[in-house]
Amino acid sequence: MQPSKIYLSSPHISQASQDYVQEAFDQNWVAPLGPNVNEFEKAIEDYLGNKRHVASLSSGTAALHLALVQLGVEQGDTVICQSFTFAASANPIVYQGATPVFIDSEPHTWNMCPVHLETALADLESKDRKPKAIVVVHLYGMPAQMDEITSVARKYGIPIIEDSAEALGSSYKGNKCGTLGDFSMLSFNGNKIITTSGGGALVCPSRALKAKTVFLATQARDNAPHYEHSQIGYNYRLSNISAGIGRGQMEVLDERVAARRAMNLFYQEQFKDVEGVSVFKEPNSNFYSNHWLSAILIDETKTNGVSREDLRNAFETENIESRPLWKPMHLQPVFKGSLFYGETVCEGLFQNGLCLPSGSNLTDKDRTRIASVIKRTFVG
Ligand SMILES: *Cc1c(COP(=O)(O)O)cnc(C)c1O
Repeated sequence: MQPSKIYLSSPHISQASQDYVQEAFDQNWVAPLGPNVNEFEKAIEDYLGNKRHVASLSSGTAALHLALVQLGVEQGDTVICQSFTFAASANPIVYQGATPVFIDSEPHTWNMCPVHLETALADLESKDRKPKAIVVVHLYGMPAQMDEITSVARKYGIPIIEDSAEALGSSYKGNKCGTLGDFSMLSFNGNKIITTSGGGALVCPSRALKAKTVFLATQARDNAPHYEHSQIGYNYRLSNISAGIGRGQMEVLDERVAARRAMNLFYQEQFKDVEGVSVFKEPNSNFYSNHWLSAILIDETKTNGVSREDLRNAFETENIESRPLWKPMHLQPVFKGSLFYGETVCEGLFQNGLCLPSGSNLTDKDRTRIASVIKRTFVG
């Protein structure tokens, strides 16, 4: 019999979530509003600090979409986006009829390179295509080089949307990811560090912008006894049932971060004597990653020919999930022909990188299985 599957990142729920969901049923708050929605938002606001206002939504993708809408992104506009990311960072740009322009990563955080960003902004401005927004991502929980990116963005007067989908619990120079952009988004999809089964949030810089976000997310209904609409709305609010799961998850977030960071240390230990394999970690103490996913880079010229695919296949044989790093957006068929500023940093990461099982619910037995595959593959 095959041993049970070890996933990259699976939901890790506590009893508190079930209690809040039960409470919602008991009180008949089975709707996209209610006490769990309010308390979940408050818990995130308290956690993030920096006077942010949180609107919980049906997904992180919806949150990005509403950030773009509120920044006035329209048909024909240009929006900058990190190339090395999940497609959901870029798709909402296209929902608005705008065109994404992609930027390469730098090798220290794997996120947007501020030097290529500046080249792009100078070039686009000279072509009268000044971007309306910059979507920067903290991949795998690793904060991007925010000071450098923010200073370039300010110089050109362009707002930053921070895609913090993978980075709740991470921080940069002591400030939480999710508070570093003009707008920031969070995701609570099933595979993220905490989950509401599916959901997200837009983190807003003011109470007024939160109110605007909620207005747009609930079909943009004007204040009148009948249904009056003077602009296009969306149905993007989070359900009070899902928010109940999230409320319980916020109570264990610190534990989840600690467990993911411990998985990263586990991999550093496993690979410490393996020539040609490096575990992705913080470049210095300004960066604090939740290590949502632990990842490695394999330099095949130094591993006696063991490739990324060799390791991935060895894991698969043992029913252990691992996955190549994100395929850059400028190399995706759907974004073929898009403008790209950079070289081959993110392309190289895609070719040589692998994400490893990183869940906060992995057991000692799981770790033993993972370690034995690593040992067998690299030591023979
Ligand atoms: C998960 C994710 C999203 C999308 O969030 P959803 O809640 O699934 O819509 C966007 N960007 C990144 C980097 C993600 O990992």
